[in-house]
Amino acid sequence: MKSRANLLYCCAFLAAAADADTLLHAGRLIDGVSDRPRAEVTIRVDGDRIIAIERGFASPGATDTVIDLKDKTVLPGLMDMHVHLTGEYSQDDRLNDFIMNEADYAFDAAKYAKRTLEAGFTVVRNLGDSFNVTIALRQAIDSSDIPGPRIITAAKGLSSTGGHGDPTNGWANHLKGDPGPIEGVVNGVEDARKAVRQRYKDGADWIKITATGGVLSVAKSGQNPQFTDEELRAIVDTAADYGMRVAAHAHGTEGMKRAVIAGVASVEHGTYMDAEVMRLMKEHGTYYVPTIMAGNWVAEQAKVDGFFPELVRPKAASIGPLIRETFAQAYKAGVPIVFGTDTGVSAHGDNAQEFVLMVEGGMPPMEALQSATSVAAEFLDIDDTHGSLEAGKQADIIAVPGNPLDDIRQMENVTFVMKSGRTYKQL
Ligand SMILES: [Zn+2]
Repeated sequence: MKSRANLLYCCAFLAAAADADTLLHAGRLIDGVSDRPRAEVTIRVDGDRIIAIERGFASPGATDTVIDLKDKTVLPGLMDMHVHLTGEYSQDDRLNDFIMNEADYAFDAAKYAKRTLEAGFTVVRNLGDSFNVTIALRQAIDSSDIPGPRIITAAKGLSSTGGHGDPTNGWANHLKGDPGPIEGVVNGVEDARKAVRQRYKDGADWIKITATGGVLSVAKSGQNPQFTDEELRAIVDTAADYGMRVAAHAHGTEGMKRAVIAGVASVEHGTYMDAEVMRLMKEHGTYYVPTIMAGNWVAEQAKVDGFFPELVRPKAASIGPLIRETFAQAYKAGVPIVFGTDTGVSAHGDNAQEFVLMVEGGMPPMEALQSATSVAAEFLDIDDTHGSLEAGKQADIIAVPGNPLDDIRQMENVTFVMKSGRTYKQL
């Protein structure tokens, strides 16, 4: 648009090509920031950017394209702060460690990335992968024709020996070996620093730690603290040196408290969060990423005989259903909440179910939508370019039928997806 006058001087047909805007006629607009939707607006897109939001349905110029979303609600691309694109949990999951190669994970991840984008998620934070596949996938999506969301990745997460993220948990002794910082297993301050620096070298954007036990690891406790204060501080401080922040998986209270005090940016799951942890999180500005869906999913699977190893089953049955209640209490207490699902536990593409659970947990629909748009962008520090539909922002735009403020389930029926000005789905 800016260069219109100059181009007209030099070459008329070039000017026409450069000026071809895409006009999205939106019946209802939820812009990610305002508390009220707007009716009948035009979003004008030029290249990968939104250049204007105009009142009414603007008429197209000769070279413009119109996308008719007059009977839809149009929103910013959604952001999920907790996914695992390299896998999807199944009964055979433990066998995969022994039969899958790096390339197998890579092809699976490409498939799941496409599914995620088509569900309306244009940005994801990947918290734990295999073989750094999501680093390669991030580059491939950014620089080529592979369809997928913009990925912000922690690559392989950090754990302590036998901790939730130790990749050899449950293996036969002769296979276990002694994984170290490169594989994401740290014991002591030196290991902690090396593991963070290794991830920086590999190209990770964030650091993920498993601050307490977890549900799906083949280990007894789902909630014991698994790092010392010194190790946590070494991880957070070293990450800060390299411009990275830390996400902490945590179910148990003590590990959560240590992680928050050490300065992690987010607590994932947060199952046994008590009033003191909530107070500390508010004080430190730590975000809560609830992943209610993952809790529900593991609780359901725990009812199926033989689905989980017997060491995992009681953890899934007890921890799973509690997250819902934790979410309700954390919301009431005013803990900052940002949208995240732990998808990869449940199926890729189902991410929007989390909105339904958040609304059931007491969060108003508009706030739930903002937690996956403007709040998420602010949390990721990309709010200058993402998270809302405003002039100057990236053209990451989705549409759903009906009005999600009346029926939040509509978020599961995304019919239109544009990322950086390019349309990936239009039903
Ligand atoms: Zn996870």
